[in-house]
Amino acid sequence: IILRRAMENELLVAEKAVREAMGLCRVVQAGIVPSVLEKADRSPVTIADFGSQALVCRSLAESFPDDPVVGEEDAAKLRQPEQTEFLDRVIRVLASQGVTAGGDTVCDWIDRGDGVPCDRFWTLDPIDGTKGFLRGGQYAVALALIVAGRVEVAVLGCPGLGVVDGDGLVFSAIRGAGTRVSPASEPDDSRPVSVSDCTDVTRARLCESVESGHSAHDRSSVIAESLGLQSESVRMDSQAKYATVADGGAEMYLRLPVDASYQEKIWDHAAGSLVVTESGGTVSDTFGAPLDFSQGRTLQKNAGVVVSNGLLHEQIVAAVVSSETVRDHDDGH
Ligand code: AMP
Ligand code: MG
Repeated sequence: IILRRAMENELLVAEKAVREAMGLCRVVQAGIVPSVLEKADRSPVTIADFGSQALVCRSLAESFPDDPVVGEEDAAKLRQPEQTEFLDRVIRVLASQGVTAGGDTVCDWIDRGDGVPCDRFWTLDPIDGTKGFLRGGQYAVALALIVAGRVEVAVLGCPGLGVVDGDGLVFSAIRGAGTRVSPASEPDDSRPVSVSDCTDVTRARLCESVESGHSAHDRSSVIAESLGLQSESVRMDSQAKYATVADGGAEMYLRLPVDASYQEKIWDHAAGSLVVTESGGTVSDTFGAPLDFSQGRTLQKNAGVVVSNGLLHEQIVAAVVSSETVRDHDDGH
C-alpha cells in the first residue's frame, strides 16, 4: 500500500508536468504559419522540444531531486553564444506559460535530461513525432518512470487525439493499477481505458508510422495481406499509435525494422508500452519477446515492436515472424 501511494505521487507530478508541456507545445504549434513550412524551418519544433524538456525536468527536479532524467535533448548547443536569440525564444515561450527564468536556469533544467539510466530514472521524449508536430498531425509528450528495468509509471500526452478542436488527451498508467485518460485541460474528468475486444483478426485495424524510414511499409503490407486485414493501415506519427491501440481505436501497431542496426530508443516506447499493457493489451518485439528496458538508453535486446489488443497477439506475431522468413528466403534467391 505504501508503494502504491508513492507511485500515485509520481503519477500526479508527471501528469501535471506533461499537461504543462502540452500547453507549451500547442502555443508554439499555433505559431507555425505557412511561410515557416515553406522554408522547411525546423526551429518551432526545436523551441518546443527545449521548452517542453525544460518544463518537465523542472517539475521532476523539484519533486524528485534524486531521480535522473534520460531525455532526448541537452542544452550544449543552446549555451553557445551565437544561440542567444534561440535561447531567448525558449525563455519567451516558457514565460508565456507562466514560468519566468533566465537563460542559465533554463539550460540547467534542460541539462537535467542528460541523466544516465540506473536503478530508478525517468525517461522523457519532450516531443515525440516531430514531423507530426510540424505537419499538424499527431505528436506526443512521453514521460515514464523506470525502476529496476521495468516501466512503473507512464504519462502520454497526445495533443492531437480526442475531440476535434479539443486540446488533446492525457493517458496515464501505474503498473498494476490500469490506464486512465482525461482531456488535457480537465484532469478530473478521467475514465478507464481498455483495448478493443476484437477476436477476428481480419477486422483488425493496423496503425504504423507515417515515415517509411521508421517502419517497413512493404513488410507491413505483406503481413496485412497474410492476416486478411480488411481495412487500410492508418498512418500516424508518434506514440499516439500506442494510445490508439490502448483506447480501442485500433487493434495493432507494427514497427518493423528498416535498418537492422537501428536500436529503438527507450523514450520512444516506455510510456506507450505501459499505457497499452495496463489497458489490457500486449507489447512485444517482432519475435514476440517482451521489451527489455534494463539495457540503458536503447532497446538493444529487441528488434522492432508489435503492439496489439492482446487477444490477437499470438496470431499477429506469427504473421510477423513468417513475413521475415519469406523475406530472408527471397533475399537468398
Ligand atoms: P514515429 O513517429 O512512430 O515514426 O517515430 C518517431 C521516432 O522514430 C523518433 O522519435 C525517432 O527516435 C525514431 N526513429 C528515428 N530513426 C528511426 C529508425 N531508423 N527506425 C525506427 N525509429 C526511428
Ligand atoms: Mg521520439
